[in-house]
Amino acid sequence: MSDIVVGEIKTINFPCEAWKIDGETMMDFRILPIPGSWTLAPELLLRKGIKALVSCPNCKQAALIRHDMGTVVNGVNEISAFRCVGCGLTCNLRLQHWDKRKLFCIAYEALDADTGVAVPNNKGEYVRKEYTHALSRQEAFSTFVEVRKTMGRFRVVDVGEVIGFFGSEADKDQTNLVV
Ligand SMILES: [Zn+2]
Repeated sequence: MSDIVVGEIKTINFPCEAWKIDGETMMDFRILPIPGSWTLAPELLLRKGIKALVSCPNCKQAALIRHDMGTVVNGVNEISAFRCVGCGLTCNLRLQHWDKRKLFCIAYEALDADTGVAVPNNKGEYVRKEYTHALSRQEAFSTFVEVRKTMGRFRVVDVGEVIGFFGSEADKDQTNLVV
């Protein structure tokens, strides 16, 4: 990293983007970060007091942002001297639209292309869940349909806002996530 000047930390704007996040337990959890952006944490992490994930613009490494980190100024969460564990890049983060978006859960069934009958996932569940963040329930619905329609027949069961539960203080220092 030749462009880092010691004593002069760059300030970088991170837009809020919808990352693809799959899985509902730590075991089958997979995320696809968009470098240089942040996304709202999925339900699993919200429950542990994690509000968001950021992805390093340099090396793509994702880091967890706790709900109490940073200072919100005009809807932008400013976090000073954040250091990437992946490449050591240190910068001031400006997480844009911090308060605007909420996490929504979409419950849906995947349908057989020919018969239209619901097909269970590999856990034998007929109703599947996917998470996305959006400004409104309607936006969450539209975004989901836009992506899902390219993957075959489906039926949306419901779309709801996910409420986070902040507990489990023991997990507080677990701020690095390997992707
Ligand atoms: Zn990095």
